[in-house]
Amino acid sequence: MNTQQRLDALRGATPPRPHDARAIAALAANPGCTRRALMDGAGADKDAAARHLGFPAPFGQSPFAITRGNVFESLVKADGCAELLRMLRELLGLPIAEVAYHDVENVGAHLRHAHTRALIDRAARDAQDAGTLYDHPLLTLRIAGHTAYLEPDVVAFQLGGRFHIVEIKSFAVIDGQADPAAVAAAARQAAVYVLALRTLLEELGHDPLQVSHDVVLVCPENFANRPVATLVDVRKQLAVLRRQLTRMTTLDRLLEGLPDDLTFDLLPGEDGRPTRPVAELADALRRTTARYAPDCLSTCDLCFFCRDEARQEGASDLLGRQVRDELGGVGSVAEALGLADGARDPAAGQEEIARLLRNAERLRRECLT
Ligand code: SF4
Repeated sequence: MNTQQRLDALRGATPPRPHDARAIAALAANPGCTRRALMDGAGADKDAAARHLGFPAPFGQSPFAITRGNVFESLVKADGCAELLRMLRELLGLPIAEVAYHDVENVGAHLRHAHTRALIDRAARDAQDAGTLYDHPLLTLRIAGHTAYLEPDVVAFQLGGRFHIVEIKSFAVIDGQADPAAVAAAARQAAVYVLALRTLLEELGHDPLQVSHDVVLVCPENFANRPVATLVDVRKQLAVLRRQLTRMTTLDRLLEGLPDDLTFDLLPGEDGRPTRPVAELADALRRTTARYAPDCLSTCDLCFFCRDEARQEGASDLLGRQVRDELGGVGSVAEALGLADGARDPAAGQEEIARLLRNAERLRRECLT
């Protein structure tokens, strides 16, 4: 079997699940997880698998949050993006008198991608054109052999020849500060759009670096609905995303060592409900290596299943990515405690971390006594 056939077998009977920007952004949230890379590469439905396993994902926006987000976006985009223009004029020096506004949605869904290409091509050719806003553009990105369709909120083309992705989010900025986790998630998502737009420019024969790595994040300020715009540098997120997408084109290496008949198929019955025995599915998933981190709780449908698995193994992953990285090579909490109190001899390569753990334990005892 070639790689694509093996991925199809992993996914099973259901058609591949399309990737949206949020899902692609989440790939970059835990690039070291083989389980996720394989499931996403195969287009498997992680949400359905998690529900069948009895570990449904804790997220999904509440109807209230969705309504609030839609109202805020409408406000920012009202009257041909008048409010957005006000902010962009200050942030990017966009000359308000010369701005053109194109709502790509007006051309009908099936033509949106072709129309977006034509508009972006025209703007990139005439780099001295006046500022232009593209509302509802439709971009594409290849993910493990499949095309994902992506809809950034707005693309702004600035006088002087640079494109900026504009991301409108409804989480609040209070006294100049926003929830760091929400900003990080928005930056990862915006990085997906930057990459998609750079890919489009490259396909059209333009310099991809015409797309700025500074994205415009628009949020409500201080509990009111008044929007405020900030530039966010997404270079780091872009680098992680590129690495992860490259990793997904080399899934054959991740498949090595896994049995040929391994599958995450839910075996849906005639009514569409999964018929696969839960223990069998759990066993199939446990054959792939996960890299659980508390961040998974906000980015991956399988988070409760993987957390439960990490708990049963007493994995140091549960303590968070930073602690796990600092413990480098010490896989479980029991092992770390054993090295700290001297009950366990360090294995080859663990001497340095064992010394640090013993020092930490000695300091802890001194503090306690
Ligand atoms: S929840 Fe599990 S599968 Fe998803 S990224 Fe985390 S460890 Fe990987």
